[in-house]
Amino acid sequence: MIKEPRYNGFFTIDVEDYYHILGVSGLPPIGEWDKIDSRVEIGMNRYFELLERKNIRATLFFLGYIASRNPQLVRRAIELGHEIASHGMYHQEIRGRDHKAFHDDATNSKKLLEDICGKDVKGWRSPGFSIGWSTPWFFDTLIEAGYKYDSSIMPIRRSHKGLFENSLKPGFVNTGSGKIFEFPISVVEIGKLRISMFGGGYLRFFPYSLISIMKYRVLRDYPLTIYVHPREMDPDHPRISMNLFRKFKSYVNMESVKAKLELLLDATDYQTFGDYYDTLGSH
Ligand SMILES: [Zn+2]
Repeated sequence: MIKEPRYNGFFTIDVEDYYHILGVSGLPPIGEWDKIDSRVEIGMNRYFELLERKNIRATLFFLGYIASRNPQLVRRAIELGHEIASHGMYHQEIRGRDHKAFHDDATNSKKLLEDICGKDVKGWRSPGFSIGWSTPWFFDTLIEAGYKYDSSIMPIRRSHKGLFENSLKPGFVNTGSGKIFEFPISVVEIGKLRISMFGGGYLRFFPYSLISIMKYRVLRDYPLTIYVHPREMDPDHPRISMNLFRKFKSYVNMESVKAKLELLLDATDYQTFGDYYDTLGSH
Protein backbone atom coordinates (compact mmCIF):
# COMPACT_ATOMS: atom_id res chain seq x y z
CA MET A 1 0.00 0.00 0.00
CA ILE A 2 1.26 3.45 -0.86
CA LYS A 3 1.64 5.67 2.15
CA GLU A 4 0.06 9.08 1.55
CA PRO A 5 2.23 12.06 2.34
CA ARG A 6 0.83 14.25 5.08
CA TYR A 7 -0.87 17.50 4.16
CA ASN A 8 -2.10 20.39 6.25
CA GLY A 9 -2.77 23.52 4.28
CA PHE A 10 -2.34 25.10 0.86
CA PHE A 11 -2.51 28.87 0.44
CA THR A 12 -3.18 29.96 -3.15
CA ILE A 13 -3.54 33.37 -4.82
CA ASP A 14 -5.11 33.99 -8.22
CA VAL A 15 -2.86 36.83 -9.37
CA GLU A 16 -5.17 39.08 -11.40
CA ASP A 17 -6.32 42.71 -11.31
CA TYR A 18 -9.46 44.20 -9.75
CA TYR A 19 -11.33 44.27 -13.06
CA HIS A 20 -10.84 40.55 -13.73
CA ILE A 21 -14.33 39.65 -12.58
CA LEU A 22 -16.46 37.18 -14.55
CA GLY A 23 -20.10 37.40 -15.56
CA VAL A 24 -20.45 41.18 -15.32
CA SER A 25 -21.27 43.34 -18.34
CA GLY A 26 -19.43 46.58 -18.99
CA LEU A 27 -15.96 45.27 -18.14
CA PRO A 28 -13.07 46.69 -20.18
CA PRO A 29 -12.21 44.58 -23.27
CA ILE A 30 -8.73 43.00 -23.42
CA GLY A 31 -7.55 45.60 -25.94
CA GLU A 32 -8.04 48.35 -23.34
CA TRP A 33 -6.34 46.69 -20.38
CA ASP A 34 -2.99 48.34 -21.06
CA LYS A 35 -4.57 51.76 -20.49
CA ILE A 36 -5.86 50.89 -17.01
CA ASP A 37 -3.70 51.57 -13.95
CA SER A 38 -2.77 48.22 -12.48
CA ARG A 39 -3.43 47.70 -8.76
CA VAL A 40 -2.16 44.14 -8.57
CA GLU A 41 1.17 45.01 -6.97
CA ILE A 42 -0.49 46.77 -4.03
CA GLY A 43 -2.35 43.63 -2.97
CA MET A 44 0.53 41.29 -3.78
CA ASN A 45 3.04 43.27 -1.70
CA ARG A 46 0.69 42.91 1.27
CA TYR A 47 0.43 39.16 0.72
CA PHE A 48 4.21 38.90 0.43
CA GLU A 49 4.61 40.72 3.75
CA LEU A 50 1.98 38.57 5.47
CA LEU A 51 3.41 35.29 4.13
CA GLU A 52 6.97 36.29 5.09
CA ARG A 53 5.82 37.07 8.62
CA LYS A 54 4.13 33.65 8.85
CA ASN A 55 7.01 31.91 7.04
CA ILE A 56 4.58 30.38 4.53
CA ARG A 57 5.19 29.52 0.86
CA ALA A 58 2.16 29.91 -1.40
CA THR A 59 1.12 28.81 -4.89
CA LEU A 60 0.48 31.82 -7.13
CA PHE A 61 -1.77 31.26 -10.16
CA PHE A 62 -0.63 34.13 -12.37
CA LEU A 63 -2.60 35.44 -15.32
CA GLY A 64 -0.21 35.45 -18.27
CA TYR A 65 -1.26 39.03 -19.00
CA ILE A 66 -0.35 40.16 -15.47
CA ALA A 67 3.00 38.35 -15.60
CA SER A 68 3.98 39.93 -18.93
CA ARG A 69 3.03 43.39 -17.64
CA ASN A 70 4.63 42.88 -14.20
CA PRO A 71 7.53 40.42 -14.64
CA GLN A 72 9.19 41.89 -11.54
CA LEU A 73 6.29 40.51 -9.51
CA VAL A 74 6.92 36.98 -10.77
CA ARG A 75 10.64 37.27 -10.00
CA ARG A 76 9.97 38.64 -6.52
CA ALA A 77 7.62 35.72 -5.84
CA ILE A 78 10.34 33.27 -6.86
CA GLU A 79 12.92 35.03 -4.65
CA LEU A 80 10.55 34.63 -1.71
CA GLY A 81 10.17 30.91 -2.38
CA HIS A 82 6.62 30.87 -3.75
CA GLU A 83 5.48 28.64 -6.58
CA ILE A 84 4.34 30.02 -9.96
CA ALA A 85 1.37 28.37 -11.69
CA SER A 86 -1.01 29.43 -14.48
CA HIS A 87 -4.44 31.08 -14.41
CA GLY A 88 -4.53 31.38 -18.24
CA MET A 89 -3.54 34.33 -20.43
CA TYR A 90 -6.62 36.59 -20.33
CA HIS A 91 -8.99 35.30 -17.65
CA GLN A 92 -11.41 33.64 -20.05
CA GLU A 93 -13.87 31.05 -18.81
CA ILE A 94 -13.23 27.55 -20.15
CA ARG A 95 -16.94 26.90 -20.61
CA GLY A 96 -18.01 27.91 -24.10
CA ARG A 97 -14.52 27.69 -25.59
CA ASP A 98 -13.31 24.97 -27.88
CA HIS A 99 -10.58 22.45 -27.25
CA LYS A 100 -8.07 24.16 -29.54
CA ALA A 101 -8.51 27.63 -27.98
CA PHE A 102 -8.07 26.15 -24.51
CA HIS A 103 -5.02 24.15 -25.61
CA ASP A 104 -3.37 27.33 -26.93
CA ASP A 105 -4.21 29.27 -23.76
CA ALA A 106 -2.85 26.55 -21.46
CA THR A 107 0.32 26.10 -23.57
CA ASN A 108 1.08 29.78 -24.16
CA SER A 109 0.57 30.89 -20.57
CA LYS A 110 2.76 28.04 -19.29
CA LYS A 111 5.59 28.94 -21.69
CA LEU A 112 5.38 32.65 -20.89
CA LEU A 113 5.50 32.05 -17.13
CA GLU A 114 8.37 29.59 -17.45
CA ASP A 115 10.37 32.07 -19.54
CA ILE A 116 9.96 34.73 -16.84
CA CYS A 117 10.46 32.61 -13.71
CA GLY A 118 13.00 30.12 -15.08
CA LYS A 119 11.21 27.17 -13.48
CA ASP A 120 8.86 24.42 -14.57
CA VAL A 121 5.20 25.49 -14.27
CA LYS A 122 3.25 22.45 -13.11
CA GLY A 123 -0.16 23.78 -12.12
CA TRP A 124 -3.30 25.23 -13.69
CA ARG A 125 -6.41 26.92 -12.29
CA SER A 126 -9.37 27.84 -14.51
CA PRO A 127 -10.86 31.34 -14.19
CA GLY A 128 -14.14 31.09 -12.26
CA PHE A 129 -13.64 27.32 -11.68
CA SER A 130 -15.44 27.11 -15.02
CA ILE A 131 -15.21 23.50 -16.09
CA GLY A 132 -17.89 20.84 -16.46
CA TRP A 133 -20.07 18.91 -18.88
CA SER A 134 -19.32 21.20 -21.79
CA THR A 135 -15.55 20.75 -21.43
CA PRO A 136 -15.01 16.95 -21.46
CA TRP A 137 -11.52 17.50 -22.93
CA PHE A 138 -10.41 19.62 -19.97
CA PHE A 139 -8.06 17.25 -18.12
CA ASP A 140 -6.72 15.62 -21.32
CA THR A 141 -5.82 19.05 -22.69
CA LEU A 142 -3.95 20.01 -19.54
CA ILE A 143 -1.95 16.77 -19.74
CA GLU A 144 -1.18 17.40 -23.44
CA ALA A 145 0.00 20.92 -22.53
CA GLY A 146 2.41 19.46 -19.95
CA TYR A 147 0.65 20.26 -16.67
CA LYS A 148 1.09 17.95 -13.68
CA TYR A 149 -1.76 19.17 -11.52
CA ASP A 150 -4.97 21.19 -11.60
CA SER A 151 -6.92 23.16 -8.99
CA SER A 152 -10.14 24.12 -10.80
CA ILE A 153 -12.62 22.05 -8.83
CA MET A 154 -14.90 23.72 -6.33
CA PRO A 155 -16.69 20.56 -5.14
CA ILE A 156 -20.01 22.25 -4.38
CA ARG A 157 -20.97 22.30 -8.07
CA ARG A 158 -22.87 19.45 -9.62
CA SER A 159 -21.61 20.54 -13.03
CA HIS A 160 -18.19 19.13 -12.17
CA LYS A 161 -19.62 15.64 -11.95
CA GLY A 162 -18.62 13.37 -14.77
CA LEU A 163 -15.28 15.11 -14.98
CA PHE A 164 -14.33 14.51 -11.39
CA GLU A 165 -16.02 12.45 -8.72
CA ASN A 166 -16.38 15.54 -6.55
CA SER A 167 -14.10 14.18 -3.88
CA LEU A 168 -13.01 16.65 -1.24
CA LYS A 169 -9.61 15.06 -1.06
CA PRO A 170 -6.70 15.71 -3.46
CA GLY A 171 -6.00 12.80 -5.79
CA PHE A 172 -5.16 11.65 -9.30
CA VAL A 173 -7.71 11.91 -12.11
CA ASN A 174 -7.31 9.23 -14.80
CA THR A 175 -8.02 10.18 -18.41
CA GLY A 176 -7.41 8.68 -21.86
CA SER A 177 -4.26 10.82 -22.08
CA GLY A 178 -2.81 9.78 -18.74
CA LYS A 179 -3.31 11.10 -15.24
CA ILE A 180 -3.20 14.46 -13.55
CA PHE A 181 -3.39 15.39 -9.90
CA GLU A 182 -6.37 17.45 -8.64
CA PHE A 183 -6.33 19.76 -5.61
CA PRO A 184 -9.99 20.66 -4.93
CA ILE A 185 -10.83 23.87 -3.05
CA SER A 186 -11.80 23.23 0.58
CA VAL A 187 -15.49 23.12 1.41
CA VAL A 188 -17.32 22.39 4.66
CA GLU A 189 -19.74 19.45 4.78
CA ILE A 190 -22.79 19.87 6.96
CA GLY A 191 -25.09 16.90 6.40
CA LYS A 192 -25.65 16.78 2.65
CA LEU A 193 -24.73 20.42 2.23
CA ARG A 194 -21.37 21.54 1.00
CA ILE A 195 -20.41 25.13 1.68
CA SER A 196 -17.43 27.03 0.38
CA MET A 197 -15.94 29.24 3.05
CA PHE A 198 -12.23 29.57 2.48
CA GLY A 199 -11.83 31.83 -0.52
CA GLY A 200 -12.94 34.84 -2.54
CA GLY A 201 -16.43 36.15 -1.79
CA TYR A 202 -17.20 33.27 0.56
CA LEU A 203 -14.30 34.12 2.84
CA ARG A 204 -15.50 37.71 2.93
CA PHE A 205 -19.15 36.80 3.51
CA PHE A 206 -18.97 34.29 6.38
CA PRO A 207 -18.22 35.64 9.86
CA TYR A 208 -14.87 35.22 11.54
CA SER A 209 -16.37 33.13 14.36
CA LEU A 210 -17.84 30.54 11.97
CA ILE A 211 -14.67 30.32 9.87
CA SER A 212 -12.74 29.84 13.08
CA ILE A 213 -14.81 26.75 14.00
CA MET A 214 -15.08 25.30 10.49
CA LYS A 215 -11.38 25.33 9.72
CA TYR A 216 -10.94 22.54 12.26
CA ARG A 217 -13.77 20.53 10.76
CA VAL A 218 -11.93 20.57 7.41
CA LEU A 219 -8.52 19.88 8.92
CA ARG A 220 -9.86 16.81 10.69
CA ASP A 221 -10.17 15.00 7.34
CA TYR A 222 -8.70 17.10 4.53
CA PRO A 223 -6.12 19.75 3.75
CA LEU A 224 -7.21 23.36 4.12
CA THR A 225 -7.02 24.82 0.60
CA ILE A 226 -7.53 28.58 0.50
CA TYR A 227 -7.85 30.85 -2.56
CA VAL A 228 -7.65 34.65 -2.55
CA HIS A 229 -7.02 37.54 -4.97
CA PRO A 230 -4.88 40.70 -4.76
CA ARG A 231 -8.03 42.91 -4.66
CA GLU A 232 -8.98 41.43 -1.28
CA MET A 233 -5.82 42.90 0.26
CA ASP A 234 -6.48 46.25 -1.44
CA PRO A 235 -9.88 47.40 -0.11
CA ASP A 236 -9.49 50.84 -1.73
CA HIS A 237 -9.42 49.53 -5.31
CA PRO A 238 -11.84 51.17 -7.80
CA ARG A 239 -15.29 49.57 -7.94
CA ILE A 240 -16.74 48.16 -11.14
CA SER A 241 -20.35 49.17 -11.79
CA MET A 242 -22.65 46.14 -11.56
CA ASN A 243 -26.06 45.13 -10.27
CA LEU A 244 -26.73 45.06 -6.53
CA PHE A 245 -26.43 41.29 -6.12
CA ARG A 246 -23.08 41.12 -7.87
CA LYS A 247 -21.93 44.21 -6.01
CA PHE A 248 -22.69 42.50 -2.70
CA LYS A 249 -20.93 39.31 -3.80
CA SER A 250 -17.89 41.14 -5.13
CA TYR A 251 -17.31 43.67 -2.37
CA VAL A 252 -18.97 42.54 0.89
CA ASN A 253 -16.75 42.68 4.02
CA MET A 254 -13.61 43.51 2.08
CA GLU A 255 -11.97 44.85 5.26
CA SER A 256 -12.47 41.57 7.15
CA VAL A 257 -10.11 39.53 4.99
CA LYS A 258 -6.84 40.31 6.73
CA ALA A 259 -7.98 39.17 10.17
CA LYS A 260 -9.53 35.99 8.74
CA LEU A 261 -6.33 35.17 6.89
CA GLU A 262 -4.25 35.66 10.04
CA LEU A 263 -6.56 33.17 11.73
CA LEU A 264 -6.34 30.58 8.94
CA LEU A 265 -2.61 30.92 8.45
CA ASP A 266 -2.03 30.27 12.16
CA ALA A 267 -4.27 27.17 12.12
CA THR A 268 -1.87 24.75 10.50
CA ASP A 269 1.34 24.27 8.46
CA TYR A 270 1.34 25.15 4.76
CA GLN A 271 3.22 24.02 1.69
CA THR A 272 2.93 24.71 -2.04
CA PHE A 273 0.95 22.43 -4.34
CA GLY A 274 4.16 21.83 -6.30
CA ASP A 275 6.11 20.72 -3.23
CA TYR A 276 3.30 18.40 -2.22
CA TYR A 277 3.11 16.99 -5.74
CA ASP A 278 6.86 16.32 -5.70
CA THR A 279 6.50 14.22 -2.55
CA LEU A 280 4.13 11.86 -4.38
CA GLY A 281 6.91 10.25 -6.41
CA SER A 282 6.10 8.28 -9.52
CA HIS A 283 2.82 6.51 -8.91
ZN1 LIG B 1 -9.52 34.53 -11.54
